[in-house]
Amino acid sequence: MSAAREAKKELKELRESMKKVEPFFEPMGKPEAYDWLGSNNEPGQTFEQYLDSDPTKPTKERQTIYVLPLGTFTPQQNKIIDASVGYLAAFYDLKVEKLAARELRAVWPNVRQNKFTRTHQIKTGHILNDILKPMLPADAAALIAFTVDDLYPDDSKSYVFGQASLESRVGVWSLARLDDNADYSKFLRRTLKIAAHETGHMFSMWHCTKYECLMSGTNHLGETDRRPIDACPECMAKIAWISDITPKDRYKKLADFCQKNGLASDATEFTKKMNAVAGN
Ligand SMILES: [Zn+2]
Ligand SMILES: [Zn+2]
Repeated sequence: MSAAREAKKELKELRESMKKVEPFFEPMGKPEAYDWLGSNNEPGQTFEQYLDSDPTKPTKERQTIYVLPLGTFTPQQNKIIDASVGYLAAFYDLKVEKLAARELRAVWPNVRQNKFTRTHQIKTGHILNDILKPMLPADAAALIAFTVDDLYPDDSKSYVFGQASLESRVGVWSLARLDDNADYSKFLRRTLKIAAHETGHMFSMWHCTKYECLMSGTNHLGETDRRPIDACPECMAKIAWISDITPKDRYKKLADFCQKNGLASDATEFTKKMNAVAGN
């Protein structure tokens, strides 16, 4: 088969898989008070729009996601970072490598004290532009840093969970707020969602508005908790397409990861989706 026909067949199969996993996802509802879509008017991005957008994707030369711990972490936080490394590997079917931890010492004007919570915060732009961009390895599909410090993008916002650059392949997210009122498994699930979400931005994926999706924007932890740990049909097709993996093999890897990491009900969901797309 010619390469062009091969590619066409792959897209046809992906579109069929999308239909088969639709029943597992909720269409995006009306935003509740303080939800992301209540204050952000976003167009969304279907699989077809993504294909037309010439997205940044892993290439033959760029097959590794690097994870950089910035700062000093507790054993529980380290365990969660290690789990995120495993989840990203399954989610994007790429090699994920954890780099040695580095200290994070930022000073004014790259830091501030939050007006309301009085917490020390670091500006995301500083981490992205001054720390991550200069150290981006040539074979990096993406370089993502974790911090324990709280983050802010600019003075218009009280805080952000994380931020990524769509073109530069660098991103950062913070664990600072993710253990609020959370047991280990809630803390873990929140971190995995944000890790996969921010990495999606690095592969030029926009916020999802079609379904309650891991790639939908979130404004607060309630919204993060409500969202699935998985990408909706549209976003799943984008990931399978850029990673060159079948949806079935991908769901299998995700189910295995969840099984090994104490997320039994997530493992069951991924197994159901794997069975739904079997044959494609
Ligand atoms: Zn986002
Ligand atoms: Zn989506």
